[in-house]
Amino acid sequence: MNIVGSQRNEIGTQDLGVRESRSARAQRTIAHRIGCVGIGLHGGRKVSLTLLPAAADTGVMFVRTDLPGRPVIPAVADRVADTTMCTALVGADDAKVATVEHLMAAFALAEIDNVTVELDGPEVPIMDGSAAPFLFLLECAGVREQDRPLRRIEVIKPVVVEAAGKMARLDPAPFTSFAASIEFDHPAVGAQSLAVPFEPARLARVLGPARTFGFAADIEQLRAMGLARGGSLDNAVVVGPEGVLNPGGLRFPDEFVRHKMLDAIGDTFLAGAPIIGRWTGHRAGHALHVKLVRALLADRSAWRYVDDADEAVDLRSGRSSRVAEPVAASA
Ligand SMILES: [Zn+2]
Repeated sequence: MNIVGSQRNEIGTQDLGVRESRSARAQRTIAHRIGCVGIGLHGGRKVSLTLLPAAADTGVMFVRTDLPGRPVIPAVADRVADTTMCTALVGADDAKVATVEHLMAAFALAEIDNVTVELDGPEVPIMDGSAAPFLFLLECAGVREQDRPLRRIEVIKPVVVEAAGKMARLDPAPFTSFAASIEFDHPAVGAQSLAVPFEPARLARVLGPARTFGFAADIEQLRAMGLARGGSLDNAVVVGPEGVLNPGGLRFPDEFVRHKMLDAIGDTFLAGAPIIGRWTGHRAGHALHVKLVRALLADRSAWRYVDDADEAVDLRSGRSSRVAEPVAASA
């Protein structure tokens, strides 16, 4: 293997003095509906996307408004139907929604737990190939805190999935972190690795703008498979034999591994709740990311639900923590 462009990057705790912490919080949804229009990366069709506030404990739900009966597709790992070049979900009546991963990453990084996503086509618009446009939409929509504590999934036993030199794992840890490494036999990409504590607001800035990428040599084959029909230098980093073809170059020297980590965060959010644990991936992609979430959830001895402390939620809303205990319903 000819790896030239080796880079290590730990935008972690030391340089910015970031404290590792997990602040207890209530569930959150968006304050206002908001939408955008774009094209699907693989189908190349124009799609409009609308985000709407959703009730507590509903999670992320996609709705195909273009299909009879407006089928609902919950954004959870057991609904993943396909992981060829993107993460696609399937719901009632075989309704599909593809390329959910960057939008899911934006929800994870903006800490939006409950939201309805209406789409009038089979694919989330690719926008610029990153999560930044979705993070901007969420910022514009605003956040509404809900009167229920957030429920997280705490990893209590290591879970590992592997396939042909690729690996992804989750280990118990007091704080959530992600560590990803990639290896491509192309000098413009090479080997890159990145390890970060899961600090959503900061990761929205350092991972959010990292774009999806592909190799010019693969594009003809992808098109023959009916994929990447909407792909262009406007929505992906394309690597040719001599290097990056995009006129503006890269957004970060290690944009490739940052994007991989963004994908991992979006795919991991398909667990249905934020995870407490240490995520590690080596050469992992959508298939392995989703397999890991499924393997975790399938092993009931590997995780448990943890509600964020009621008193901390109440501190935020200004209410006394003493009323958090359920009171007899006779009142
Ligand atoms: Zn991606």
